[in-house]
Amino acid sequence: MTEVLSGKELAREIKDEVADSVKQLQASGTDPSLSVVVATADETTDFYVRHITKAALAAGIKADVVRLSTTAMEDELAATLTKLAGDKSVHGIILQTPLPTGVDVERLRSLIPPEKDVDGANPLSAGRLLCGMEAFAPTTALAVMAILDYHDIPVSGTHAVIVGRSLVVGKPLAHLLLAADATVTVCHSKTRELAQVTRKADILVVAIGKAQFITADYIKPDGIVIDVGTNVHDDGSLVGDVDSQSVHEVAGALSPVPGGVGPVTTALLLKQTVEAAKTL
Ligand code: NAP
Repeated sequence: MTEVLSGKELAREIKDEVADSVKQLQASGTDPSLSVVVATADETTDFYVRHITKAALAAGIKADVVRLSTTAMEDELAATLTKLAGDKSVHGIILQTPLPTGVDVERLRSLIPPEKDVDGANPLSAGRLLCGMEAFAPTTALAVMAILDYHDIPVSGTHAVIVGRSLVVGKPLAHLLLAADATVTVCHSKTRELAQVTRKADILVVAIGKAQFITADYIKPDGIVIDVGTNVHDDGSLVGDVDSQSVHEVAGALSPVPGGVGPVTTALLLKQTVEAAKTL
């Protein structure tokens, strides 16, 4: 029987804590606020941004979406980020990807001050995370760790395999899993014999953006599978990178999509925004 690693209850608990913190901050004269900079018409991004702003408002956090054209130039994006960086009423800043072609993404990410970098995008935050120093980590990577912890899944000593090496998920998660004493393998599009590698995983985390790509052939019997994938179908429904029907009964546990990593990611983003508001 495959255990369902739901993220819903955990997300609710985090959001309740956030709402309490927001009330305390407001009582002391601080209105926590998050700004999301968007320059894409990508549907998945739109879905995610709608979700964040709704959740922020529900928790009492002011959420502003700063929408630029999909052809915005780098200087316009840089000016927007610099303005938000200097705005004392803004506590958290997210720069949504994808960005218009040709812009220097790392230069733009560097313009988010580390103390407002609530989704760990600034290369300085990534470097601090790598060195085990205090920093805001990317919330999706944190959400994977939080789900494992919430469901009492031991990490120390396990072989964890991550499929996907993006800066927002795979790479930071590799650091977090290493820090929790897992032995970590990171796979990507050039990995040979992927299934042979993933079948060795006590914990398999998939973040590739390919709907239902991972089937039973990729899973170690009774292994733990965390599905980060968020793929939006034409009818608006969500599906993960793991074929849940196929892996059912093979995996020991599987996080669902929707209702797994996604809600915890959003809740942790609100939590990090509140933490930023406390220190600014
Ligand atoms: P990304 O930047 O496009 O990176 C995808 C990664 O997957 C790359 O490292 C790529 O390898 C690898 N990959 C692609 N096809 C592969 C294949 N056939 N075999 C092995 N590796 C393959 O994507 P991302 O931003 O990390 O997002 C990944 C997924 O997670 C998406 O579905 C996204 O929507 C979802 N996501 C969810 C949340 C959440 O809160 N739930 C948050 C962020 C992202 P190369 O490096 O070699 O190209």
